[in-house]
Amino acid sequence: MNADKNNNISRRHWFTASLRWAVLGSIALVSGRLLMRGQRSEQSCVDPKGYLGCGNCAVLKGCSLPRALSLKQFLRKDDEQRKS
Ligand code: SF4
Repeated sequence: MNADKNNNISRRHWFTASLRWAVLGSIALVSGRLLMRGQRSEQSCVDPKGYLGCGNCAVLKGCSLPRALSLKQFLRKDDEQRKS
């Protein structure tokens, strides 16, 4: 074990090990976020044939595909017209 009478080396070892794990954790976090961002940009439609329609889709709120964006824009304009 890396320890002397005052535990100086052990503390140093603990500190460097903690720092090493923190750096590795940060790298893993950044890699994970980059991978998740890559997956989101290649989002695929859960109903590609359009049988259910975006209005009945469970993921409409978070969907960024063109068809869903068109529906959201339409619904927003429809809400604005009703209010005025
Ligand atoms: S909301 Fe998105 S995932 Fe759902 S049907 Fe529409 S385009 Fe597809």
